[in-house]
Amino acid sequence: MTERTNWFCAEQLTDTIRRIWEPHVHRFFRANLFHVIGKDVDLIVDFGTGLAPLRPFLNIEIGKPVIALATHVHADHIGSFHEFEHRLGHAAEADGFAGMEDAVTLAHLFRQLSKGVEQKPAPSFEQDDYAILPAPLGRVLVENDTVDIGGPSYRVLHLPGHSPGSIGLLDEASGIFFSGDAIYDGTLVDDLPGCDKSAYLATMRRLRDLDISVAYGGHGAPMSRERMSTIAKAYLDAST
Ligand SMILES: [Zn+2]
Ligand SMILES: [Zn+2]
Repeated sequence: MTERTNWFCAEQLTDTIRRIWEPHVHRFFRANLFHVIGKDVDLIVDFGTGLAPLRPFLNIEIGKPVIALATHVHADHIGSFHEFEHRLGHAAEADGFAGMEDAVTLAHLFRQLSKGVEQKPAPSFEQDDYAILPAPLGRVLVENDTVDIGGPSYRVLHLPGHSPGSIGLLDEASGIFFSGDAIYDGTLVDDLPGCDKSAYLATMRRLRDLDISVAYGGHGAPMSRERMSTIAKAYLDAST
């Protein structure tokens, strides 16, 4: 079942995980974000473009703590990061989150699109004015850190290549894996400023062999372990 407002769409992936997206945003900037209902804490993974306020759409239980975790610093994933108080991201992009300069968020690429949105998020919307508000991290993550929401608990995987501080989150109990833009079922991007193809190759070797049950990527549909491995292998094969 798809839930819809005039800006966001959402679908239930499991009893406790919802995928949310912005259907009217240009497909290059139309990313997935996820709301995980934890036992003690809710976890939000990624934050869309910020063109419309995200937090009111999420219907978070009143008084329940929320952890906001960004998979990486690109504009299509962190526009509404600033709406949340407890912000987590990787150390390699900590300065990026604090400053939100175009050079790291690539927000200027959105401004340059011929038509960034199919319908305006608000009557006053002007594409030329698009900017991301700074959102300094409260907790800086590195490889192997744990993000615990009272069940489930996630291990942080540092997966550089698409961006220096790209991370994935793996729930080793269920095999559910949030992969950000490190890997998704679609055309992968390794030629933007900040991309590092040799780091990406190492990340792809790791993802090819990673034991998961399902991967929820920063774009596209969920991937089985086999599908994720196939995508990683195709990237590796194309690079040799
Ligand atoms: Zn990205
Ligand atoms: Zn993206």
